Amino acid sequence: MTTASSPLQPSAGCVYCNYCPGYCCYRLKGSTLFITAEDINRLARHFGISDGEVRKRYLEGKNTFKTRDDGSCLFLSNARMIKRCSVHTARPRQCRDFPYDAPCPYLLRADLLEQIQPRIELALARPGKSE
Ligand code: SF4
Ligand code: SF4
Repeated sequence: MTTASSPLQPSAGCVYCNYCPGYCCYRLKGSTLFITAEDINRLARHFGISDGEVRKRYLEGKNTFKTRDDGSCLFLSNARMIKRCSVHTARPRQCRDFPYDAPCPYLLRADLLEQIQPRIELALARPGKSE
């Protein structure tokens, strides 16, 4: 376990989230973002649509969001000047709680970064995504 006295190690919680391109918003093999009925209803109120419409538009199967071809959550924005999550105030519980009062694994594990960083660089390089 890392401690707050170690400046080179991410501390527990999300102190780096504001500076992070959203590594945890990419679906990797073996991982799934779990969406609950409460999460769906929060999004429905956010968009002013029904729970059923949220399911129809945004869910893949019953309990997770659709992703783009690169595995990114369909709500992840690549724009540099806004919050990465385009539904930040209505994001699911799992997104709010991650990394569960522990150091963020995406900042510690080279194998995870190796999978995601190329996708992020490609996404940021797309035209029209710099503002
Ligand atoms: S939890 Fe980790 S990967 Fe996700 S935004 Fe925060 S620092 Fe980045
Ligand atoms: S809902 Fe937002 S925070 Fe959660 S995975 Fe999608 S973009 Fe990331």
